[in-house]
Amino acid sequence: MSECRVLTNLKGLLSPDPRAAWAVDRIPDAALALEGGRVLWMGRRTDLPAAFAGAPTLDGGGAWACPGFVDPHTHLLFGGDRSGEFNRRLHGVPYAQVAAEGGGIRETVRATRLATVDQLVADGEARLRTLRDRGVVHLEAKTGYGLELEAEARLLEAYGRLRAAGWSLDITLLPAHDIPAEFGGDAEGYAALVADEWLPELVRRQPGVARYADVFVETGVFSVAQGRRIFEAGQRLGLQPRVHADELSWTGGAELAAELGAASADHLMFCSEQGMRAMAAARVRPVLLPATTLFLGMRDWAPARAMIGAGCEVALASDFNPGSSPCLDPLLVLRLGCLQLRMTFEEAFTALTLHAARSLGREDLGHLHPGAKADILLWDLGDPLELVYWVGEAFRPRFVRA
Ligand SMILES: [Zn+2]
Repeated sequence: MSECRVLTNLKGLLSPDPRAAWAVDRIPDAALALEGGRVLWMGRRTDLPAAFAGAPTLDGGGAWACPGFVDPHTHLLFGGDRSGEFNRRLHGVPYAQVAAEGGGIRETVRATRLATVDQLVADGEARLRTLRDRGVVHLEAKTGYGLELEAEARLLEAYGRLRAAGWSLDITLLPAHDIPAEFGGDAEGYAALVADEWLPELVRRQPGVARYADVFVETGVFSVAQGRRIFEAGQRLGLQPRVHADELSWTGGAELAAELGAASADHLMFCSEQGMRAMAAARVRPVLLPATTLFLGMRDWAPARAMIGAGCEVALASDFNPGSSPCLDPLLVLRLGCLQLRMTFEEAFTALTLHAARSLGREDLGHLHPGAKADILLWDLGDPLELVYWVGEAFRPRFVRA
């Protein structure tokens, strides 16, 4: 175990309080005692316990210390990109026409099926480096652009290699992201195949790599009953549900997530009040993805205020993916949380740290209380609120190596 060090010369410290849903500690002239990559103590520098007084110091350089961001919903790995399609959309071509001509998600599926594991890993590392430089210390990442067993297995293998290389990732199986073209719209048949054959086979090939299963429960994609079948198959394999829920219309995804005791229900732009109450009662964390709403040019921002009012511990995420959120920017997500979801700065900050981590069962991330992982960001700002206020600035944190 490495020796104790004291991080000092901080303008302040901002951290969610893990003992409460929405309380945030704001401590001026703070210090932290760190050992073995963990926080031992934090508080005002003048209150530093005598036991740490003689420890070597780390110079914070007058910055604000904050926990690293956690991104609990990404589609990190895929082949190709869809910038050409994006420009067609800007020229007024509707998505339905792009999709009918073989574009849209099908284009990404084609490119992903052609990608080797080495290519997927190289692309993943580049994206992970970008996210890390912007302050993301842990993320969730999904399969789901393979839509056939071997391509899904390559995505899972690539994620396993990224994790083995030291990246902090939780991995989700999402073969039910869409109905592959070759199934001709047979959602029922495809859902049965995923539940009965693919999930068990993927877990058998890469035991212990995936922690979660996800399904795109949406009108015209997978029904609540088809979603339930896949999620229950996943639960029998030890995969906890995370649900793509109520994104484009009310489908009952939030209610299904509550019924299953899911780790999260994600998107939720069309969540019902009953769904919010059910999520709060079942402690399902809503994960809201405002960069997707922005990029799709929609006005249906997820009802964050109503969810917080219903008692939900709302989290924020990027939904990074090539079609609807090519966004690797946690500050954009934070800003949209404040400016469009009408969260306070402290709420949006907590949603992208503590609640994001908890939706992944990571109690030691997203805060800086004793026991937390010392994944500390240093922001050279007068106040962390400026991360949102200077809305166009590409601020980058410095990192503490405990
Ligand atoms: Zn997604």
